[in-house]
Amino acid sequence: MRTRFAPSPNGPLHLGHAYAAIVAHDLARSSGGAFLLRIEDIDGERSRPEFVEEFLADLTWLGLAWDEAPVFQSSRLSTYADAGEWLKAMGLLYPCRCSRTEIAVSATQSGPDGPVYPGTCKHRNVNPAGAAWRLDMQAALAVTGPLEWVDAVASRQRATPETLGDVVLLRKNLPASYHLAATLDDAADGVTLVTRGLDLFAASHVHRLLQALLHLPVPTWHHHGLLVEPDGRKLAKRRGAPSLTDRRRAGEDGKALANALRDGRLPTGISLAHTLPSEP
Ligand code: GLU
Repeated sequence: MRTRFAPSPNGPLHLGHAYAAIVAHDLARSSGGAFLLRIEDIDGERSRPEFVEEFLADLTWLGLAWDEAPVFQSSRLSTYADAGEWLKAMGLLYPCRCSRTEIAVSATQSGPDGPVYPGTCKHRNVNPAGAAWRLDMQAALAVTGPLEWVDAVASRQRATPETLGDVVLLRKNLPASYHLAATLDDAADGVTLVTRGLDLFAASHVHRLLQALLHLPVPTWHHHGLLVEPDGRKLAKRRGAPSLTDRRRAGEDGKALANALRDGRLPTGISLAHTLPSEP
């Protein structure tokens, strides 16, 4: 078994990340497998190298050791670009210049991640230079036919990537998006069990589709519960969840904290939710 923890260095880690890392680490350890670390640092100006140093120190403080050198997505841009070209050659991507606001105004459906892109640019003649590229979901599903995948917790799933609509696979000025990069990396790194929070359950449907289109191996998934605040919303750095770095610097015992999370002994007001929290 090979698992991975894949944080984005756009802010400090908090308890929710610690829980995600522990799940990935412990599942690998319990089967004599490998636990990998991937830094998802392709988020433009939001990615900051100084967070990476803290991530490594935070994980070590929690008592988690990774088995191979950490992988940085920023070093793999040409691999993502090649896959993007392949999908373009298959006629499955189209350029899009719509802004978030335009999409919010024109969307008629709401999906697991908010407004579903209504396909505005699909039939337009859009200048591809510097545009984002979206997956033509209907055309992609016509290529693959029905797909299934297995979640170790929620069991067999029929893939329904269409609930997310024509997702962006190549962002403006970047030859990748989260969906494309994460799917390619999990395959390149031989990840056999993809662990991630329930908030990314819908994304896994898209990743299953990309695996079929790009002829990649299909892992098993394990979507775990999310640490939530009393109002039911997941912990978030933007809402001031205390960072692991602060706790470490304050002299807290990281291994004891990790064991408390393992045993479900959570700080006051925080609970583990097994259904998706509703975001306002
Ligand atoms: N980088 C993502 C995050 O920090 C996690 C991606 C994944 O597990 O697939 O939320």
